[in-house]
Amino acid sequence: MARILVTGGAGYIGSHTTHHLLSLGHDVQVLDDLSKGYAHNVPEGRLHVVNLHDTAALDRVFSKGHFDAVIHFAAFIAVGESVREPEKYFRNNTGGSLSLLDTMRRHGVRRLVFSSTAAVYGNPEHVPIVEDQTLKPVNPYGESKLMTETTLRWLDECSSLRYVALRYFNACGAESKYGIGEEHEPETHLIPLIFRAIRTGKPITVFGNDYPTPDGTCVRDYVHVSDLAEAHRLALDSLLAGGPSGVFNAGMGQGYSVMEVIRAAETVTGRQASFTLGERREGDPAELVADSSKLQKTFGWKPKYDTLASIVESAWAFDAHKHGAV
Ligand code: UDP
Repeated sequence: MARILVTGGAGYIGSHTTHHLLSLGHDVQVLDDLSKGYAHNVPEGRLHVVNLHDTAALDRVFSKGHFDAVIHFAAFIAVGESVREPEKYFRNNTGGSLSLLDTMRRHGVRRLVFSSTAAVYGNPEHVPIVEDQTLKPVNPYGESKLMTETTLRWLDECSSLRYVALRYFNACGAESKYGIGEEHEPETHLIPLIFRAIRTGKPITVFGNDYPTPDGTCVRDYVHVSDLAEAHRLALDSLLAGGPSGVFNAGMGQGYSVMEVIRAAETVTGRQASFTLGERREGDPAELVADSSKLQKTFGWKPKYDTLASIVESAWAFDAHKHGAV
């Protein structure tokens, strides 16, 4: 049993990881300012409503918690918004991480699992993407995460901090046994927006169909949130056992276009999703697909959800739970 602090644990991936670690017997505390996350995602008595820039409050949580490690999710994640308001992303994501790292140093906590992103690659040179490809983000969101990765690399070099950065591809799906799922406000992510289109009949806009991909729409690697939660658990175990720092892709390894996801959702739900073709979204690379063999080989990670249909099915089950009858 380890004492773990999960920042952003009221959010989507953070709450799945929190529940997963609790189910394995770890003592988990959650830190979240609830600017995006929901208190209802966090098990009773474990939530500290604190912003990462509030160092006095961070100190209080750390003084009481005696943490063995931190898993750091807390961040803004909307690519489009990051292009419109870059300062917000650098302040919250990069600045917030620095504040957390400072606090960890003051309290002698030297193990961190960091929630990074495929957006650090920008438009990749080769697909599937391996970790040592050129890192050239094409939006401030990706850059804000890369800046934190760079900080971590130097802290590993210059101090006793050890970290694992997991570069997720497109997290999706939900774990029905915890009653939690993807709920962003405003929602910007593809699968929940397709469900909204199915429920309301109002069309979803497909952002661009002139990309150099088979059907012209963007290709992404959709990976189930429970598989990501397990990747965090494995990374944590390695760090707690004295393992080295490292950076790993976390994706299913299979790319699907926006149109393929819409079709999969129609098949799973048995209903039609109306859509319109729109302009490209700023900052969107054409194709992001992971080579996750490093994560698989190093930690023995194996995604349980290995089809788009199974992922979409689990997301639809949560959507039905949230909206009542299907
Ligand atoms: N997308 C879309 N319409 C929407 C939302 C998303 O066509 O209303 C596309 C988006 O351009 C991207 C893919 O769906 O190619 C996945 O986007 P999402 O925002 O879910 O995740 P991201 O790739 O930004 O992490």
